[in-house]
Amino acid sequence: MRVVFLGPPGSGKGTQAKIAGKRLGLPSFSTGDMLRKAVQAGTPLGRQTRDVMAKGELVPDETVLALIREAAASAEARSGFLLDGFPRTLPQAEGLEKMLSERGQALDAVLNLVVPDEKLVSRLVSRGEGRADDRPETVRERLRVYREKTEPLTGFYQRRGLLVSVDGVGEIPEVAERIARALGPARQGVA
Ligand code: AMP
Repeated sequence: MRVVFLGPPGSGKGTQAKIAGKRLGLPSFSTGDMLRKAVQAGTPLGRQTRDVMAKGELVPDETVLALIREAAASAEARSGFLLDGFPRTLPQAEGLEKMLSERGQALDAVLNLVVPDEKLVSRLVSRGEGRADDRPETVRERLRVYREKTEPLTGFYQRRGLLVSVDGVGEIPEVAERIARALGPARQGVA
């Protein structure tokens, strides 16, 4: 099973992708986590992307596509994977589709976590993870980038009949339960 988790920053999609991954026995790949690790480790990739990330902007499509290509080809991804924070632009979504079709694979569902703006900013700022991009002005920029570049993906996936929208407001276990129910049909569709 291959599922994309879509949702604005602060919607809880990272947490929910991890929970769903455990339940389904699938790895969840987060381009944000991969990039933060590269920044911490001071690799060339980390040095290239640090400033862009700190501003709340997007790193180049080819950079994240390469990360996902590698993750999708790994042994742990054999029976599928969940993607958290990727794709974030139309070229990334098209790149993912092409990459999967070359491997004879396709997405089973795109889980769209819906949370209104007013809940997002306060959640992000109070998240307290000490992330460099959780400052209020950066949070606003990340939301703006999300609306402009990432939200159009809902239409892209709707047209492919893959979009499943779930209300992301509520306690973590409650939302996890909604997601489990929403992914049920997609799961049965997999041989
Ligand atoms: P996240 O943890 O998913 O919120 O990602 C943190 C930051 O990493 C983002 O604000 C971007 O700067 C960068 N990033 C993560 N995933 C992507 C992606 N798919 N495309 C471009 N930039 C990304």
